[in-house]
Amino acid sequence: MGLLIKNGEIVTGDSRYIADIWCDGEPITRIDSDIQAPTATAEVIDASGKYVFPGFIDPHTHIYLPFMGTFSKDDYETGTKAALVGGTTTIFDMCCPSRTMEPSEGFATWTAQARGKAACDYSFHMGVTRFNGNSAAQLREIVAAGVQSFKIFLAYKGAFGIDDSELYQTLKLAKELGVVTTAHCENETLVAETQQELVTRGTSGPEGHHDSRPPRVEAEGVHHLMSFAEMTGAPVYIVHLSCREALEEALRARLRGVQVWVETLIQYLLLDKSHAELPEFEGAKFVMSPPLRDKANQPVLWNGLRQGLINTVGTDHAPFDFAGQKSMGADDFTRIPNGIPALEDRVNLLYTYGVKAGRLDLHTFVKIASTNAAKIFNLFPRKGTIQPGSDADLVIYDPNYRGQLSAATHLMNIDYNAFEGWPIEGRPSLVTVRGEVAARDGKFVGTVGRGRLLQRSSKNVFDFDAPLASDNNRIALKRVGCQ
Ligand SMILES: [Zn+2]
Repeated sequence: MGLLIKNGEIVTGDSRYIADIWCDGEPITRIDSDIQAPTATAEVIDASGKYVFPGFIDPHTHIYLPFMGTFSKDDYETGTKAALVGGTTTIFDMCCPSRTMEPSEGFATWTAQARGKAACDYSFHMGVTRFNGNSAAQLREIVAAGVQSFKIFLAYKGAFGIDDSELYQTLKLAKELGVVTTAHCENETLVAETQQELVTRGTSGPEGHHDSRPPRVEAEGVHHLMSFAEMTGAPVYIVHLSCREALEEALRARLRGVQVWVETLIQYLLLDKSHAELPEFEGAKFVMSPPLRDKANQPVLWNGLRQGLINTVGTDHAPFDFAGQKSMGADDFTRIPNGIPALEDRVNLLYTYGVKAGRLDLHTFVKIASTNAAKIFNLFPRKGTIQPGSDADLVIYDPNYRGQLSAATHLMNIDYNAFEGWPIEGRPSLVTVRGEVAARDGKFVGTVGRGRLLQRSSKNVFDFDAPLASDNNRIALKRVGCQ
């Protein structure tokens, strides 16, 4: 057995060359020019004319999330199949116990949901939805088990949200343990008060969602987190940043020395608040928090990605059916379950509207969709790059593919696609997970249940500039300069 990928154009966060990749088992064994298959039974893939990217990483998903009395529709089987077809080989799912649940119970629930079902590898950001001595002891054990990041909510009062004492104590613990705390930044009091005012004034449709959580509400959440991060010295990661005002608060903190990373979402880069204002309740398909923003924010976000001010692009994938779930908020926008599905389409959209549209170079694309998340969350260089010893998570990408996104053809378990009819220019023709072919030309061909809960370690945590082991390996290989 073994897998040999020949003549592909390998593109990582910092290198680009044509070479063959030999995978004997789960890791990449060798990269060189003109490798011959060592065994007669090896599977040989011709990747001529195609890119070979490291498997993409979605740093932010909600698989089967309990929310507003229902569950997001994808389970670990449907969600990870969809991810793989779209080139995503690792997901970071949010483990979100309710405030009445013990952390260990939440962790056990999420791991049980994933085990035997996930087809790609995964880890969790461990939700801290309350904090006391008892929960702290359990959080220490969960971190020791390899789940080396927390998730906190400054929004969702009474559901997942924590108060300031809990926030302070969580960050102190995170600092002590050397783990990154990811945070949903919106001021929950401003959200609750503004929602109430809008409802009282008679606003009931999804178009009210944006004005109940305007940019200042998010910027205030970021400012708040930045103050606490500065006081505790804890490293933090802002999830789903959507607007200029919030980015400015993060950058101000960075200049003060706060260790902060920023994630935006493919939805904010491509969709805007006019989508949530569509008539006939159609706008409900586009309700998430923070809300889709004015289009004027999009150039700011793209530029932030180009300039390294924003580090990752995720999806916050939380699929709720239009019929039956989004409709819970038909008479009251505050009851519309939050989420815009995108797990399957993130990479193709980012390639088409980022790289092909001239907004991103190929290396930045790989970094923001894969490498940076691996580095920030302690998976690098096992994930996020292509070098001997790394897991053979590879995406052979066909830049000549032309197609359209549609709910009629997607694998996500959801009855609409927020990007219905959008053209895409590029698609994975083959995706591997640890050396096994898992997707081919839009079809899942992998193994349900093969996905592993990744054990992370803090060894490489902030070492963004560590030289790659493949530096020597590259020298003899043919460099290319075309796009
Ligand atoms: Zn989320």
